[in-house]
Amino acid sequence: MHVLVLGGTTEARRLAAELAARPGVRVTTSLAGRVARPAALEGDVRVGGFGGVDGLAAWLRERRVDAVVDATHPFAATISENAVRAARLTGVPAVMLRRPGWRPVPGDRWHDTASLTGAAALLPSLGRRVFLTTGRLGLAAFAGPDLAELHFLVRSVEPPEPPLPRHAEILLDRGPYTIDGETALLREHRVDVLVTKDSGGAATAAKLTAARALSLPVVIVRRPEPPQGARVLPDAAGVLSHLASLGLPGRV
Ligand code: NAP
Repeated sequence: MHVLVLGGTTEARRLAAELAARPGVRVTTSLAGRVARPAALEGDVRVGGFGGVDGLAAWLRERRVDAVVDATHPFAATISENAVRAARLTGVPAVMLRRPGWRPVPGDRWHDTASLTGAAALLPSLGRRVFLTTGRLGLAAFAGPDLAELHFLVRSVEPPEPPLPRHAEILLDRGPYTIDGETALLREHRVDVLVTKDSGGAATAAKLTAARALSLPVVIVRRPEPPQGARVLPDAAGVLSHLASLGLPGRV
């Protein structure tokens, strides 16, 4: 059985390792190629876009793929939409592995918004020193003259893409992060407000706990809806059971 995992996440890496360990299963992980030195992966790896829905559909046919697992990041909406459409075109079954989003608990001071622009609009009323953890792309939303007086601590895995906020301090780092580490960081940089996407998952959740402990407001950019008709499962165990129902060899 040949499984294509659309990757770029910790979940995708773990799933590929589970699949690669099974006799009779071939796994190929596909990466967009945005990260210069991605973490090592079990099984085969291919890098770069497919060329839209038709390109992905052709790849599925040519490589005789038996199942697609879309384990991309919850904010990677285009490739997820393409996966559903290419699966329909080819008849190859597809499933989406999507970690659950974060939910507030008592003590949280969360402000939901639908976009980075929406997050930027909220900032002047929430503080002057911003911890921005929305990734390296899309920071133009925070580069406008209306936010020129704010100070941004920008954390990302790879250097952020300009235009950047006028006062931007860059912190290159990769999770997982600890609550103690995040609390110390927020204190050291005298952060007033945290901005994050609703990425979900444990690896980057410590900042939310730290913000709660320090009673800081958090601006949360909510994730896009999954594509219509997508079969969405929250974890690798569910995906493996689903693949087993399609004939995946080995233990479940
Ligand atoms: P996107 O907007 O959904 O995708 C844009 C284009 O990039 C797609 O149309 C596709 O090109 C190509 N692409 C995306 N993921 C791919 C994959 N796994 N394999 C091959 N091609 C892929 O995606 P994005 O938001 O730019 O994210 C790119 C990658 O980074 C994703 O794989 C995602 O898992 C990872 N990532 C994203 C975020 C985020 O916040 N968006 C955070 C962490 C990691 P073609 O149309 O040419 O096939």
